[in-house]
Amino acid sequence: MAFSPLVDELVESLRCLPGVGQKTAQRMAFHLLERGRSGGTRLADALSNAMTGVRRCESCQNFSDTELCAICENPSRSIGTLCVIESPSDLLAIEQAGDYKGGYFVLMGHLSPIDGVGPEEIGIERLVQRVGGEQVSEIILATNPTVEGEATAYYIADRLADRDILITRLAHGIPVGGELGYVDGFTLTHAFRGRKPLSD
Ligand SMILES: [Zn+2]
Repeated sequence: MAFSPLVDELVESLRCLPGVGQKTAQRMAFHLLERGRSGGTRLADALSNAMTGVRRCESCQNFSDTELCAICENPSRSIGTLCVIESPSDLLAIEQAGDYKGGYFVLMGHLSPIDGVGPEEIGIERLVQRVGGEQVSEIILATNPTVEGEATAYYIADRLADRDILITRLAHGIPVGGELGYVDGFTLTHAFRGRKPLSD
């Protein structure tokens, strides 16, 4: 169906968003054209500016408008600790928790040989170089507790095994306020393995 090349192009373009199929894209396009013109114009400007202006931080690979991101530029962050995560949303979650004051390294994915994603694609060489060039004393491997996330963590730990640094992995376990009876067996096993003395 083609009643307007401009509308068709808008619908097709919206389909690049995750989880947006033909019907949803049509609904979005019609909404913007019928009732959301100012929002649509703002969206178009923001998209255009972000697509040309946002780059990757030279140091941590996170999205940034400048060569170094605000966290890497912040002199009050401890550069001795580096937290390795899969995505910028992980960084936001940790920052919102508010307790961590070290640096980050954002992989923008995980190792996935089937999809052709190797160490080079997610910047592990860059991470190894950074660890060699800075006074890093601890690497916190905070990749997701999935098969790929675990494999990525083990790979990085292996690559850094000959360095004189502490390599730690985030503990997985019982959610705060949770009850043992409702926790799945995999999580419970991890929690047992990650147990620590009560005095900590
Ligand atoms: Zn950075």
